[in-house]
Amino acid sequence: MKKFDFLVIGGGPGGYVSAIRAAQLGMKVALIEKRPTLGGTCLNVGCIPSKALLESSEMYHTVKHKAGDFGIGVRHVDLDLTRMMANKDRIVSEITGGVDLLVKKNKITRVEGRGRLKGGHVVEIERTKGKIEIEGEHIVLAMGSVPTELPFLPFDGERIISSTEALCLDAVPKRMVVVGAGAIGLELGSVWNRLGTQITVVEIFPRVAIFADGMLSKMLAKLLEAQGMEFMLSSKVTGADVKESGVEVAVSSEKDGDRTLMCDTLLVAVGRGPYTEDCGLEAAGVELDGSGRVRVDEEWRTTADGIFAIGDLIHGPMLAHKAEDEGVAVAELAARKPGHVNYDVIPNVIYTWPELAQVGMTEEEAKEKKIPVKIGRNYFKANGRAKSLGEEEGLVKVIAHKETDRILGVHILGPRASDMIAEAAVAMEFSASAEDVARTCHAHPTLAETIKEAALAVDRRAIHG
Ligand code: FAD
Repeated sequence: MKKFDFLVIGGGPGGYVSAIRAAQLGMKVALIEKRPTLGGTCLNVGCIPSKALLESSEMYHTVKHKAGDFGIGVRHVDLDLTRMMANKDRIVSEITGGVDLLVKKNKITRVEGRGRLKGGHVVEIERTKGKIEIEGEHIVLAMGSVPTELPFLPFDGERIISSTEALCLDAVPKRMVVVGAGAIGLELGSVWNRLGTQITVVEIFPRVAIFADGMLSKMLAKLLEAQGMEFMLSSKVTGADVKESGVEVAVSSEKDGDRTLMCDTLLVAVGRGPYTEDCGLEAAGVELDGSGRVRVDEEWRTTADGIFAIGDLIHGPMLAHKAEDEGVAVAELAARKPGHVNYDVIPNVIYTWPELAQVGMTEEEAKEKKIPVKIGRNYFKANGRAKSLGEEEGLVKVIAHKETDRILGVHILGPRASDMIAEAAVAMEFSASAEDVARTCHAHPTLAETIKEAALAVDRRAIHG
């Protein structure tokens, strides 16, 4: 039986990054992935294809509706959905191919097949050409997650679909009902809304993106409504009847009582669950926690000796960069180095337009925890770069501790908020105060000046606002 120092099951952002870091640290590494391509959910059916379609659909929307504001007359705009999808597929294939090269470059043994723990440190791999067993001194479970199905709305892949199918529809549906106003529901709802689908989002909570800052989440819903999306909040889908003419969706709403919505496609985006099926967890003594995720301690060690777990499989936000950082940390721990992830500084982004990005605490959370805070806000309408881009909606909100001035959270609703949030994350990682950011020289004219002005506003001394 072949023996490795470090054996990873699952080639997503958690798994492949962990394998590369372990190889960099001199370990003999094997990476087991059941898909023919590496990159997991994120690169194949998640972050990357969704962002490719968000970008294309936004461009279509801009040319169609905004080009005139910039003095550009466009007489006829055509949507070529086949080409748009082909462009997305090219991006996915180039980026998964790139990961392949990285794995080769780092001399990692890649095994294509389904990994299953056999007890001890042995993993059985079911491949098309038969089973093999290999052994790892350290084993990392990085099997990720799968879309959550509602028991009364089983996916059929055509009318009742998950995010995976919503990324490759071959025609623009006339009407789509989206169940769930989290990141995936809002992003994919935006894609199809821009391409011409009439979207109704049904959300059980009283607002969209429930984890986000209350004020910004309400503003985002209003902006998406202005783009044509309809929201039924405090409402739940209770059933669906698939007919030849479409899907009849039963909705029970606090405001409107019971209603029936007709649509061509019902996208269920109510979250994702850890993928723990048929991988021998019990045989190896790996226990789950109360929510069905793999139980780990603060060093990502499971209840089985020498076996770690990371990413969507364990507690915490289901995000690619969180999985990556945990992957790096476990490789470093296995090499007897200090591995660490700061869970207080994990940015979270919804890639609608405008984008909603946040890092750290919300105002609501601070209130709940009775932490005294002071808050600075600055609006993009006061920013020259945002004006030139024709993107004046939104704001930056900086939350700082009332006594120490330490930044506890930053929330951005605006253009390219996803890129701007990195400045806030770096500042928070270095325990910066609002004054530190306020006194840092920011290039002019840039969107990032809004962060500086919001930091100044914490002390009521914003110049532009
Ligand atoms: P995964 O990426 O799920 O990878 C797990 C891999 O393990 C898979 O390739 C699977 O085939 C393999 N596997 C499972 N079981 C076995 C087995 N027994 N043997 C061998 N292989 C196995 N996150 C962000 O941070 N930003 C975004 O913009 C973003 N957008 C998203 C959009 C969509 C539509 C979706 C669905 C998700 C999005 N996510 C985003 C979430 C992100 O994709 C996940 O958080 C991330 O992929 C988790 O990484 P992971 O390595 O834990 O698991």
